[in-house]
Amino acid sequence: MKIIRIHNELLGTYGDRGNADVLAYRAGLAGISTRVIDVSYRDAIPHDGDIYLLGGAEDAAQILSCNALSGGSLHGAVEKGAVVLAICAGFQILGKSFYANNNEVRGLGLLNVTTVPGTQRYVGDIKIHSDLLGIDLTGFENHGGKTLLGAGAQSFGSVVVGHGNGESGVDGAVSGNIFGTYLHGPVLARNPEFADLLLSRAHGSPVKVDDPLADHYAALRLRLVK
Ligand code: GLN
Repeated sequence: MKIIRIHNELLGTYGDRGNADVLAYRAGLAGISTRVIDVSYRDAIPHDGDIYLLGGAEDAAQILSCNALSGGSLHGAVEKGAVVLAICAGFQILGKSFYANNNEVRGLGLLNVTTVPGTQRYVGDIKIHSDLLGIDLTGFENHGGKTLLGAGAQSFGSVVVGHGNGESGVDGAVSGNIFGTYLHGPVLARNPEFADLLLSRAHGSPVKVDDPLADHYAALRLRLVK
């Protein structure tokens, strides 16, 4: 399985690079071999990846990354059904537009969302409930933008603690195999069940991860964000 970590030199500010390592580790527990491929913003994005990852970033880096992707290199992979996980700035880039350094920037349009300046900077612990996974997920958030879902767009989860997309009570967006969320953590380290969902989507059938620590996650999660 090929895991493509996109522009980590730009989208690495919040440690979201760890999502690739969690996917590789858990795939290994399931007997699936993986390769993590880092792609610089100066290089073309390969079309034959199974999972593509984008992380959070400061505004200037976010614009550079978005410009590099605007040639459509991610669209080809998405059309082939690849899985995409995009965190915060990465999530905003996948939408139709976002604001960075006070300018409106055209996004990739892979998710039907738009991001506008928020009423505050949204910083702190966050807990959401995901109907898709049937569990609460935790992380931390740190963003100035608030994200509005377009007609028919589906959120990733409902907010229990924190802000997510802003004041709307929901976090993120999901469309097919594309997942956007505001949860840093890295989100897959704090919520390994989400990693297993992405692996299953990429594999095309449920991936059974033989994890000796599985029972501990639920208890740990409850303690992390009240
Ligand atoms: N620059 C974006 C914002 O402030 C994203 C921040 C982030 O990725 N944490 O909204």
